[in-house]
Amino acid sequence: MRFFNRVWHVFICLCLLTGCSKQREPSKLDAWMQEKDKVRVLSTTAMIGDLVAKVGKEHVAGEVLILGEIDPHSYELVKGDDEKISFAQIVFYNGLGLEHGASLRYALQKHPHAVAVGNAVQKEHPELILIEEGQVDPHIWMDISLWAGTVEPIVDTLSQIDPDHQQEYQNNGEELLKEMMNAHQKIREEMLQIPSEKRFLVTSHDAFNYFTRAYLADASERERDQWQKRFEAPEGLAPDGQLSAADIQRIINHICFYHVTVLFPESNVSRDSLKKIISACKEKGIDVTISDQVLYGDAMGAPSTDGDNYIKMIQHDANVLRDAWDHGSRNGA
Ligand SMILES: [Zn+2]
Repeated sequence: MRFFNRVWHVFICLCLLTGCSKQREPSKLDAWMQEKDKVRVLSTTAMIGDLVAKVGKEHVAGEVLILGEIDPHSYELVKGDDEKISFAQIVFYNGLGLEHGASLRYALQKHPHAVAVGNAVQKEHPELILIEEGQVDPHIWMDISLWAGTVEPIVDTLSQIDPDHQQEYQNNGEELLKEMMNAHQKIREEMLQIPSEKRFLVTSHDAFNYFTRAYLADASERERDQWQKRFEAPEGLAPDGQLSAADIQRIINHICFYHVTVLFPESNVSRDSLKKIISACKEKGIDVTISDQVLYGDAMGAPSTDGDNYIKMIQHDANVLRDAWDHGSRNGA
């Protein structure tokens, strides 16, 4: 009997321990919703949330709607999201067509202070926004210098809602911009040290156009608009898992032409498309593998991984590519 008591005791302790994180979530959320002394800000993605935290610091209570490895393109509201959105004094979202789930789009349209930070960048620099087959490419966070353009709308919106701390938001924003531009320059220099013939990227979906233009192409390719050859992905601007024979052939042609030897999976996208390409390559006797290191494209990565803040996320991607291209692939499919 004593044994069973002990087992029961251990079981209860384990339940309490493992239940902690789940039980804490509602109270943390309750506290956020009742926050009176700070500006309550909801960001749709972690990449926006990280900049908001750095601009707002102690004056902002920030929450992120689409956390972890969830696809932001097709995100639909789940239980509790309506409350988060209505309790937020400001909602920052990417825009440029990223959040195209109908329920989220509708909620954003209804919110009195919903700001599309990507659209603000497009308004300021339309020439830097990429259009693919008539569709705007929303992945602007993949180029730090472009994503830096979202700092000003964040500073302006926070200052408008909370004018008492305007100067602090301004100062924090300037500091953040410096940090971002330094990281941008550093990553560009690191990537351009890799031999040109190796800098040809294949991932799962079209999340890396801006990254390629910013970090894989050299200055003359950027100026002459010839950077596109350095990136291919079987799936389009939003991952959909739909792959035609023509898609597979297009990637195989790219692999052969540029002597690509490793394909890079994205943390939150199924590897099925890449696996189909690998097996089609094998049938043709082409030797290609999938990297055992994932890239962060639409998801920033969790705390305790390389991607726990926005700049680290982009640096992580650069490190993964550099490791694979500079030292050869240590991977298996
Ligand atoms: Zn995407």
